[in-house]
Parts: sequence; C-alpha cells; structure tokens
Amino acid sequence: MSLEKTESLVLRTVDWSETSRISTLWTRDFGKVRALAKGGRRLKSSFENALDLLTYCSIVLLRKTSGTLDLLTEAQVLDGFSGLRKDLNALHASYYLAELLSDWTEDYDPNPVIFDQALVALKTWSDLGDGKSGLDQEERRAWISLVLFRFEFILLSELGFRPELKMCTGCSEVADVSNCAFSPAGGGVKCPTCSVADRTSFKISSESLGILGSLGSETLETHKIIPLQQRKELRKIFGRYVTYLMGRRPKLLTYLEAGCI
Ligand SMILES: [Zn+2]
Repeated sequence: MSLEKTESLVLRTVDWSETSRISTLWTRDFGKVRALAKGGRRLKSSFENALDLLTYCSIVLLRKTSGTLDLLTEAQVLDGFSGLRKDLNALHASYYLAELLSDWTEDYDPNPVIFDQALVALKTWSDLGDGKSGLDQEERRAWISLVLFRFEFILLSELGFRPELKMCTGCSEVADVSNCAFSPAGGGVKCPTCSVADRTSFKISSESLGILGSLGSETLETHKIIPLQQRKELRKIFGRYVTYLMGRRPKLLTYLEAGCI
C-alpha cells in the first residue's frame, strides 16, 4: 500500500453502502482508477462536492495491491466547471467525453496528453456556458463542437487509432480528396474502387476532410465556425469510427446529433 497524490476528473460515481461511494476517476498519473470513498455519501462529508461528475480535483489515493479497490482519502475541488450546467450542448459534450474515457480506456494506463486535452475541453465548454465568450447561440454551438472534434481526434490518436487521411487504407494509393470515402473498418479514407466492397465506408466531402486533417496540428481559431453541413459530416465520421472501435454506439451520440454538435 502507498499514498499517492495526483489530479483527477470524476467520470462516474455510484453509491456503495449507507455511507460510501465508488468513484471512477481519470487521473493524470495513473489513468483510470476506481476508488472507494468512505463517508462519501454523508451530507457534510470531507469530500464536499469533490465527487460530483466531471469535477476536477486534487486527490490522495491509498493504492492497494491487485484485486482490491484503491481508497480515496482526500479530494479537494480545483474546478467544478459550473458553466457546463448552463448550456445543454456543453453538458452533452462533456457527458460524451466522460463516457469515452470511462468506457474506452484501460485501468491504470495513464496518458497526460488525454488528461490535459479533457481539461481544456471542459474549461472551454464551461466558460461558454457561463457566457464569457460573447458569442451568439449558433457560434457557441459550432465552437463546442469544434472543441469536441479536437478532443476526439487527439483521443483516437493517443489510443493508436489516428485516422489515415492521405492514402487509401485499401490500396495505399494517394487519396483524391475530391472523391473519397471514410472507412471506419479501414481506419481512414478509401478510394472509390476500394470502398465498393467496404460496407462501413461512406462518401465524405473535401471540406470535411480538410478540417479533419487540421484538428491535430493547427490552432483551433482557424476553423472556429464550422458550417452546419460540415459539423454533421464530421459528427458522422467520428460517431461511426468510435462506434466501430468501441464495438457499441456511445449513448450520448444521439444527444450530440440532435444538438448538431
Ligand atoms: Zn484504394
């Protein structure tokens, strides 16, 4: 057993007993961890709001040996991202982020890049919900969705599934951006010939392909306002690719599609 201090995001919390809770935490140093918080259900517990969904905390964990849950001994709120609750699209985007991290990453597989990107996304969405941006509703929606696309792109890349966008994943010929399809099974674009036999593939526009290619490198400002048509297409690309890789459709996708984010 050892005491470890780290930072975490709360991905899920379930009641465990009369007084305790089990929290699924995404930590900077240990990746996904499930920890028991004794006294976590008491009204004025030492954890206060630290176990609320998507709260960013400084925590101390008592690491147990294999087979038993770690024990959460301290949790101090660093940011509750209160603005998320003021914008439904921001809230749905953040729940989707939590669903991907909770259901699609392995326990004890730390990734500081994903951790930091999740923090950036939650902070941006929370600030948008707080009305700090001065953007109108449609601009906010486009901005929320761009930040989410970037998070998805980086998550995919870090997990080893960065989409191939330059060469056909079937025949390795250089892709013609004005005439190609996206293939979840291939993990990237496919030429018209190769996409015929691939039932997962669907045609995509050169505009969407261009935005997709810039998500990992350029600053976000370049494409701040993605037109509705491209947002829908990018949502389809990420939604189908993530669904294919996870082996099931994320629950929150329906809400994202309904909100055009
Ligand atoms: Zn091909």
